[in-house]
Amino acid sequence: QNQVFTFGGGTAEGDKSMKELLGGKGANLAEMSSIGMPIPPGFTISAKICKYYNEHDGQWPEGLKYEIQDSIQQLEELMGQQFGDPEDPLLVSVRSGAAISMPGMMDTVLNLGLTDQSVQGLAQKMDNERFAYDCYRRFIDMFGDVVMGVAHEKFEIALQKLKDEKSVELDTQLEVDDLKELVDRYKKVYKNNTGEDFPQDPDDQLRLSINGVFGSWNAKRAIKYRKINKITGLLGTAVNVQAMVYGNMGDDSATGVCFTRNPSDGKSELYGEFLINAQGEDVVAGIRTPRDINELKEVMPDSYDELLELTNQLEEHYQDMQDIEFTVQQGKLFILQTRNGKRTGAAAVKIAIDMVDEGILKKDKAVANLVEPGHLDQLLHPQLKEDEIDENDILGKGLPASPGAAVGKVVFDSDIAEEEHGKGNPVILVRIETSPEDVGGMSAAEGILTSRGGMTSHAAVVARGWGKPCVAGCDGINIDYDKQQFTAGDVTVRAGDWISIDGARGTVINGKKEVEAPQFGDNFRTFMTWVDEFRDMDVRTNADTPEDALRAREYGALGIGLARTEHMFFGEERIREMRRMIISESEGERRSALENLLPYQREDFIEIFEAMEGLPVTVRLLDPPLHEFLPDEEKEVKTLAKELGISTAELNRKIRLLSEFNPMLGHRGCRLGITYPEITEMQARAILEAAVEVKSRGKEVYPEIMIPLVGTAEEFIHERHVVDEIAEDVFAEKGSEVDYKVGTMIEIPRAALIADKIADEADFFSFGTNDLTQMTFGYSRDDAGKFLEHYLNEGILKNDPFQVLDQEGVGQLVEMGVTKGRAAKSDLKVGICGEHGGDPSSVAFCYNLGLNYVSCSPYRVPIARLAAAQAFL
Ligand code: ADP
Ligand code: MG
Ligand code: MG
Repeated sequence: QNQVFTFGGGTAEGDKSMKELLGGKGANLAEMSSIGMPIPPGFTISAKICKYYNEHDGQWPEGLKYEIQDSIQQLEELMGQQFGDPEDPLLVSVRSGAAISMPGMMDTVLNLGLTDQSVQGLAQKMDNERFAYDCYRRFIDMFGDVVMGVAHEKFEIALQKLKDEKSVELDTQLEVDDLKELVDRYKKVYKNNTGEDFPQDPDDQLRLSINGVFGSWNAKRAIKYRKINKITGLLGTAVNVQAMVYGNMGDDSATGVCFTRNPSDGKSELYGEFLINAQGEDVVAGIRTPRDINELKEVMPDSYDELLELTNQLEEHYQDMQDIEFTVQQGKLFILQTRNGKRTGAAAVKIAIDMVDEGILKKDKAVANLVEPGHLDQLLHPQLKEDEIDENDILGKGLPASPGAAVGKVVFDSDIAEEEHGKGNPVILVRIETSPEDVGGMSAAEGILTSRGGMTSHAAVVARGWGKPCVAGCDGINIDYDKQQFTAGDVTVRAGDWISIDGARGTVINGKKEVEAPQFGDNFRTFMTWVDEFRDMDVRTNADTPEDALRAREYGALGIGLARTEHMFFGEERIREMRRMIISESEGERRSALENLLPYQREDFIEIFEAMEGLPVTVRLLDPPLHEFLPDEEKEVKTLAKELGISTAELNRKIRLLSEFNPMLGHRGCRLGITYPEITEMQARAILEAAVEVKSRGKEVYPEIMIPLVGTAEEFIHERHVVDEIAEDVFAEKGSEVDYKVGTMIEIPRAALIADKIADEADFFSFGTNDLTQMTFGYSRDDAGKFLEHYLNEGILKNDPFQVLDQEGVGQLVEMGVTKGRAAKSDLKVGICGEHGGDPSSVAFCYNLGLNYVSCSPYRVPIARLAAAQAFL
């Protein structure tokens, strides 16, 4: 099999489906070549080689050297130039590119092939000395940085020094002689830091650069980025070697980046930035402020038209919004990269709808590919309250780089951001600009604010990808890292002060502002109706209050999958009666306390049934260990003793009696209801009386009573019997009946193992995957924090199993539970109500097991709906 794949001249050995081997960049360069896009030719070294290289101490596999030689030769023929020719050198870029795009993670070397000699040849050939030396100094800088590990800053310092000496502000103001001088100084920087002369053999330059890219796969920042973004299972990075085109040949040349649609709001327009007489990273590096792509229309109208034409073509070909890099060399346009563009949630939904309307793709494809579950998450992000904002509090306005409101304390340092976040403090990371070194801090921050950089700056791209609010390029604020403060006009904001940012408007506001829940627009609603056309599994919600139930309904929940009753026992009077019940030492005492609790519970259920009118509501009976309801502070104990009319000593004695060594495995769940059947009786009565009441108001109710923590069929039979007896009583008393179901949570591994026996007796199963995960792993949910982080860092676990369902282990129990349960009762209704019900990969797993529904928190309902549809498609 090939180790190297060529592209260019209208053909290619690869195509867009080969991302794993060629990386995203290489696969798309190949694809673009085949569809006739004007791209500079070149070749891609497979990511497999990167893996080999990193596993074999920097060695190349056999034959690679010759394949590269052949490919260079082919490139020379296409270009009509020779690599290493001193008169007319073929120059190339060496570009990294993995299967998943990692913005700014891996580095690129441009203008490779230049030497002291060939720089003169290039100057003569192009009749442009300034240009040739500009290329050379860039090459020394990039090669030094990427390949030899000489920090880019060291070159920057030399450049700044020269600019100061020459009293100029911009790189472009340097004259030919200045650039020659700069090349000499750069070579000194190179030698001082590497102990070697700058290599003058292009073959060495190429070999070392390829190795540099391979090596950068394991650079700290690359590893960190992959970790934060949970990118695993890749071979490594591919390496693209590509003929250079030059955007720095004068005022008829330019380089830029653009999106085929606005990545912030989805508007159909060419969107981006460019710089005249510039090369490569200048646009994103924030050295000069880039110009809006619309200005290209004025300065290079032909190139603009061509760009518009080609980018539209690319969008249609890929059936997705594209993020494109281009260069104009003396009026001729080249495309250097295309990929599916990152976008905000609002943009994703609008683009999906528009592209279907424009006939670019069909609904099913749009639902399957154009909106990610995480995009919907962003739409559900909070916004600043409009009327909270006083004009006078506005510190500055920057670019609306990534929407959503964030409120936090100012920090200027990424490490501190991580630290503060670890302590539970919300922070806003404020930086002049961000670099890949900052990703840890950016991820920890609520929001990001930069004073420099455009919509495609590092901060903006990363923040949008994560759906994190970001205001970029807010040049009205003046950041002073040394003093740990920034100024905006005459206001000084210090580290630790509160600010608020609005990433949709680009505003930076002094102080801690209030935020409100978002409002969905028409696009969202339309898109969600499409989602439901392809959704083949219900989504319910976990809700304990009528408010949550109503919100979830608005988000499309088709019922409640889990209403926890324990939350209903808080509130002043309720908790007193609850506590009285708990410390009762006789059934009589307990019954009298429970009788006082009944009306509260009944009222709660009435409200919830009303909110969920016409839809099923699964109510779980009391689950947590009782002592959780007791006060733990001495002062509270005293008050309670007084209220209950007993001595503090007596109360303390009773509390001690209730304490357990291992409450999670103690007296909880159905064990409570079995030892104190009166608790089950009261709850069943409250639920069924409420149901009868709501039905009498002319509304449909579908109560489903769920017995928690069942591990044996006998436990379930016992509890079911209590519920059925109460039902009979209630229906007789009221002279009216409702349909109700009694089922169980499958959350103890044993229950999954004997699911067939339980299914004989139960009407439904709901997998309580929080407890099931806890008990299958033997990790206490409340104590796992002590080691989970470490496990994730060490790669002992890939994901937090409490967030992402462990399909390999816990998943087997779920599968067994479904199979055995349905074998015993083919129409058994089965759902899941753990945290995992809102996690897309877990939703897909549940769909594939044939579950009837997933249940998740109200805010995640739309996400679960989309994940379910995507699992179907
Ligand atoms: P990244 O993945 O960081 O975007 P790229 O490989 O895309 O890195 O390269 C960085 C910059 O260099 C881009 O702006 C790209 O357009 C430019 N570049 C890369 N190869 C060439 C080339 N052959 N000719 C001109 N510019 C190039
Ligand atoms: Mg880069
Ligand atoms: Mg790029």
